[in-house]
Amino acid sequence: MNGETIVVGGGVIGLTSAVVLAEAGHRVRLWSPGEPGATTSAVAGGLWWPYRIEPEERVGAWALRSLEVYAGLLDRPEETGARLVSGVHAATPLDGLGAWAAEVDGLRAATEAEYTPGDGLWARLPVLDMPAHLTWLLGRLEAAGGRVERRTVTSLAEAAEGARAVVNC
Ligand SMILES: Cc1cc2nc3c(=O)[nH]c(=O)nc-3n(C[C@H](O)[C@H](O)[C@H](O)COP(=O)(O)OP(=O)(O)OC[C@H]3O[C@@H](n4cnc5c(N)ncnc54)[C@H](O)[C@@H]3O)c2cc1C
Repeated sequence: MNGETIVVGGGVIGLTSAVVLAEAGHRVRLWSPGEPGATTSAVAGGLWWPYRIEPEERVGAWALRSLEVYAGLLDRPEETGARLVSGVHAATPLDGLGAWAAEVDGLRAATEAEYTPGDGLWARLPVLDMPAHLTWLLGRLEAAGGRVERRTVTSLAEAAEGARAVVNC
């Protein structure tokens, strides 16, 4: 055991996990075959919204925790990529959402004038400019002493060899 944690994957989940671990004092190496800009995360719309995520009974609390974290990034949008956007979430009835919806500030059914076709929501939600956000996460990881290596893993056993823990992202 060399005491290092290996994070496999350099999209938003891998970078975020690596940042949290490195800032908590763990020695972290992140393995990814390409730059953050070459991931699916880089092309995501970046809207905060718990959509088709499982397990349903747990995602509400996870999503609300993310909302709290993003709220802390909104005062530096150029740096973090996070900003708030107001608008109508189309074709989504309020009563079809989980209990988490009651905790989202200002979330309500859209009025007919706001959304004529029927069930819609009015919301003010974080949207992340993903290339900017990934670059910012990478900077945070490096500042916390995390190392990034261009590497493709063929099995998790390969990553686990000598490592304290492997985080598969
Ligand atoms: C068009 C589009 C719009 C989206 N819009 C939204 C949105 O508005 N809101 C939202 O929440 N979500 C959205 N998503 C979903 C979101 O993009 C994903 O949930 C998120 O990017 C997943 O992040 P990830 O880090 O798990 O995966 P990825 O970004 O796919 O990262 C996976 C990483 O693993 C690496 N990897 C893969 N195989 C190996 C290997 N063998 N060895 C080493 N590394 C490996 C990859 O190179 C990459 O670095 C959208 C997705 C798309 C496609």
